[in-house]
Amino acid sequence: MLSPRQARLWRLRHRRGYHLVCRHLACVLMSYETRKSVIVTDLDNTLWDWFDAWYQSFSAMLARLTELSGVPQKDLERQIRQVHQLRGTTEYSRLLHEVPALIAAAAPASPAVAFAEAMQVLNARREAATRLYPGVRNALDELKKLGVTIVAYTESLAYWTEWRVIHTGLDGVIDVLYSAPDHDWPDGATADDVTVLTPSKYSLKQTRHQHVPSGVIKPNVEVLHSILDEQGFRPEQAVYVGDSLMKDVAMAQDAGVLDAHAEYGQVQKKTGYDLLRRVSHWPDEVVAREREIARSALIEPTITCQRSFAEVVPLFLRDRL
Ligand SMILES: [Mg+2]
Repeated sequence: MLSPRQARLWRLRHRRGYHLVCRHLACVLMSYETRKSVIVTDLDNTLWDWFDAWYQSFSAMLARLTELSGVPQKDLERQIRQVHQLRGTTEYSRLLHEVPALIAAAAPASPAVAFAEAMQVLNARREAATRLYPGVRNALDELKKLGVTIVAYTESLAYWTEWRVIHTGLDGVIDVLYSAPDHDWPDGATADDVTVLTPSKYSLKQTRHQHVPSGVIKPNVEVLHSILDEQGFRPEQAVYVGDSLMKDVAMAQDAGVLDAHAEYGQVQKKTGYDLLRRVSHWPDEVVAREREIARSALIEPTITCQRSFAEVVPLFLRDRL
């Protein structure tokens, strides 16, 4: 039997213990709620060097087309840009069929037949130059071991994105891929007419592939929020990584998501970037805005990955140690 004094002490001790347990549980819950559990990563020039592969393959194709057709490169670039803008992509498999100067130069043959050698150069260079940046695969494997959900979000179109995911061995490493749907097929054409690869080279087996609405380009806060929502995460649980200050970093910041800038992937000052600007499907105002941001450093990233994608991994270790 406890004395009244002993009983009072027992109650005090247990009440304090109860409060300590509650406080500890609240801390655990809070850290679980804000623990970084999902990475949303851009793909082109974040996981792989898209620009280098594009530039090597496209510039070689363009040089060969100029030689074979006799059409001045400047005229080809202008007409190619018009096709790219019409189709909403800078990687259009039926490009040769729709450039008026090439149609005229090849007549009565099909441009795809007359200039097949240029397409072979394009495909061979693209295949050889498309590869992950060093350290990407190990970093993604480490994130998976930590239980982090890996979501990719690219504004590139579905077909070539699937090919790159398979080609770089990331089918199944990326849990969910969000990309733009494919371009509108030309009148009377089907997907099989427009694509040039066998299905095994562009059909994902393990990564789930979802589409963002057609025509939606980055930065788009609503799309990023809806991706997180669909995957069951809140903005504070996510880290977003991408190479573009304008499209990736600004979007993440406006969405309340921790942003990491893939500085190693920046290509705007590289030789050949002006060629991309001249033939890209991007609207003029997007090109102008990108130039302005590159010049003035208007957007300040929260985290900077200077050398490698692997620099994001410690952001996920903080709440797990
Ligand atoms: Mg990118």
